[in-house]
Amino acid sequence: MSEIDVLGMAREQLATTARYLDLDEGLHEVLSAPKRQLVVNFPVVLDSGEVRCYQGYRVQHNVSRGPTKGGIRYHPDVDLGETTALAMWMTWKCAVVNIPYGGAKGGVRVNVKELSKREIEKLTRRFISEINIVVGERSDIPAPDIGTNAQVMAWIMDTLSIQAGYTLPGVVTGKPIELGGSEGRVEATGRGVVVTAIEACKTSGLNISESKVVVQGFGNVGSVAAENCEKEGATVIAVSDATGGIYNPKGLPVAELYRNYSGVEGGIRNYKECEQVSNSELLELECDLLLPCAIQAQITEDNADAIKAKLIVEGANGPTTVHADQILADKGKVVVPDILANAGGVVTSYFEWVQDLQNFFWTEHEVTDRLAKIMRRAYHDVHAVQQRHKTDMRTAAMIIAVQRVAEATTRRGIFP
Ligand code: NAD
Repeated sequence: MSEIDVLGMAREQLATTARYLDLDEGLHEVLSAPKRQLVVNFPVVLDSGEVRCYQGYRVQHNVSRGPTKGGIRYHPDVDLGETTALAMWMTWKCAVVNIPYGGAKGGVRVNVKELSKREIEKLTRRFISEINIVVGERSDIPAPDIGTNAQVMAWIMDTLSIQAGYTLPGVVTGKPIELGGSEGRVEATGRGVVVTAIEACKTSGLNISESKVVVQGFGNVGSVAAENCEKEGATVIAVSDATGGIYNPKGLPVAELYRNYSGVEGGIRNYKECEQVSNSELLELECDLLLPCAIQAQITEDNADAIKAKLIVEGANGPTTVHADQILADKGKVVVPDILANAGGVVTSYFEWVQDLQNFFWTEHEVTDRLAKIMRRAYHDVHAVQQRHKTDMRTAAMIIAVQRVAEATTRRGIFP
């Protein structure tokens, strides 16, 4: 069970939004509960010959606006509650950027660091076979998440294709390019974070090219976001990974850090022209823009008061707790919420799916350009609602998302 009750967090956010919308009680109840939860226990024969049993989940939260979409996570802390919360956030994320999906999430309770590549392949092929009764290119389309990657998606696509008897590229996104993956998918989330950061700077009276930026997490999302901030002329003064952070008020060479330090023994902390900081010190540094791009529940009631950034753009899922949100709002900080800021990944997954279904592929420029248009429009939709309701950006994003899902549910009607 996760230390923080993430499902409680997700339900609390929905309840706050329901009050703003004066949402019908029955509809609120429908949206609080996932449509389907599948729990599977399945065996894998390890390289040693030993048989081990794993528990996996696939949760589909809402199907009113289209098929469901969401990542598959391999992590020892994965559980049904966390998977359900993440599925619910995916529903809001797809609705806020207005792509025709509902939310889903899946995962297996496993420490993949203990498994060989062959064992991960066997675990993946068996897990997807166990949940193939609910996934499919027209029903529920998985994607990578923590602990999974393009190779895992390739095994999923291969397994489901073998079972169908023909190749099904659209059954999963985040695939390698040569199997129907999309150009620009790997960079999409980080790029989307920066597109929203640029717009948020504009509406907050800041100029991104003059801003000082702190990035927590230097993985896929954080490193691309940091690099794109640098391209916009911003000074990235601190970055971190799970082992801690580095800080230089004059700026860090992001591309060099990624090329020469990230992913090698000792990581970014081997870089010398900087001060070493802990992850909690990093969050409290003097800066204009803070991009939490690591894991959930990093900004809490214990450190929210000490955050100095004017603008916080959430690359990670759920990095700010409900209590911290309130403290930041009281201090006049602008938080661009995860469901908007990190939606670039799912938007580009949507592009990948569309390309796969049509067997017609786009250039990276086309992908990036279409992504930026969707992210900008979504940001300004949310900003307009925030201004109208005089609330924070998370509530505004939730108002738009819940309203769109509620409207679709009502229009479709309740069967029979
Ligand atoms: P990743 O595994 O590539 O990178 C995670 C980074 O965070 C790594 O640098 C890791 O060392 C660091 N980290 C882990 N624990 C930390 C801690 N306690 N303090 C500081 N740093 C820590 O993962 P990613 O794909 O970049 O995803 C990061 C976050 O963004 C996750 O919350 C994920 O759910 C979310 N997200 C990712 C995508 C995507 O397309 N990759 C899309 C939407 C949301």
